[in-house]
Amino acid sequence: MQAYPPAHDERLQDVTLDLLNEAGVRFLLHAFASGVLSKGGKVEGAIFETKSGPVAIRAKVVVDCTGDADMAVQAGAPFEMGRADGLAQPMTLMFRMVEFNRMGFEEYVKKNPSQWRGVHGLWDLVREATRAGELELPREDILFFATPHEHEVSVNSTRVTRVLGTDVWDLTYAECASRRQMLQIAEFLRRYVPGFERSYAVQSGVNVGVRETRRIIGEYQLTADDVLSARKFEDAIARGSYPVDIHNPAGSGTVLKRQKRGGRLVRTARVDGSFNVADFDPIGLTGIQENCTTSGSYSASTCKPRWMSPRSPQFSKWKRWKVPKCFASVW
Ligand SMILES: Cc1cc2nc3c(=O)[nH]c(=O)nc-3n(C[C@H](O)[C@H](O)[C@H](O)COP(=O)(O)OP(=O)(O)OC[C@H]3O[C@@H](n4cnc5c(N)ncnc54)[C@H](O)[C@@H]3O)c2cc1C
Repeated sequence: MQAYPPAHDERLQDVTLDLLNEAGVRFLLHAFASGVLSKGGKVEGAIFETKSGPVAIRAKVVVDCTGDADMAVQAGAPFEMGRADGLAQPMTLMFRMVEFNRMGFEEYVKKNPSQWRGVHGLWDLVREATRAGELELPREDILFFATPHEHEVSVNSTRVTRVLGTDVWDLTYAECASRRQMLQIAEFLRRYVPGFERSYAVQSGVNVGVRETRRIIGEYQLTADDVLSARKFEDAIARGSYPVDIHNPAGSGTVLKRQKRGGRLVRTARVDGSFNVADFDPIGLTGIQENCTTSGSYSASTCKPRWMSPRSPQFSKWKRWKVPKCFASVW
């Protein structure tokens, strides 16, 4: 069984706060960005809704890391969403099961090798439980990952389709539907799957997870062909090496398209994270953690010591010297 990524999530949150504090960053939690301050078409800051009332912060540069392009769209950036029929990838509430007996599960997989592929499977058992009316999922398999803890797995198997992460009513519905599914899956694992006999769901995500929402329409749109043929770009700022991973927006099935060897250079405008400038297919590659982290770090680093436009002549010179140092691990 594999882990993606094998990180201790509580420790990670702690380390992140330590890093911010050590670097002297002034940050604000519990603040929802709701608007931009702008003058003459130029963004000059952001407005946040907080328990203390609205807070306006002026800034030379605003980097939108909302994953939904909330701020970019408020600033007037054109965008699109979903595939041609308007459907976006399904939402998933992640949860963790503990008291998992790894040896018991591995024994089952050894005896039934066709029933587990890396991080997902159990097709026969899912079919059996569905027929018995004990499982009602718009997917045909169960997907879970190892964590740093021996007796714990992280389950990525709830699926809520035909919902949009930019619609608060859809989000409300998805919270309810995914929490119901979580309890069903936990029960299914306990009753049907060797290794899970004593297990129970110990914690779910703070929110249902949204895989994709808005994609900003940039100067260039990364296409599926760019990704799968491992096309190189002069102005690349990150290199990705993940299959195009698309969870079926309409129901069962996951599409995994593998790219040619050599990885892909992700071309991005000055926006962060999962709303990278890509059309529907490549969002399955650009909207994954390593690419979001790298493009986000890149956006932040170009703000320091002073903002430099990617179009300025100094930029390519700066990138040649600075980027390899900033991103040595991924470049
Ligand atoms: C169920 C699920 C499974 C996934 N599995 C994998 C996987 O196995 N491997 C992989 O590489 N990737 C996976 N991904 C994708 C990965 O999680 C995302 O690509 C990545 O988290 C995107 O990072 P981000 O920083 O751009 O956005 P996010 O991680 O979404 O962070 C955005 C943050 O901004 C906050 N926010 C949003 N709007 C506002 C606002 N208006 N004001 C203030 N704060 C705001 C949010 O609360 C959130 O904390 C998965 C995603 C989901 C949903």
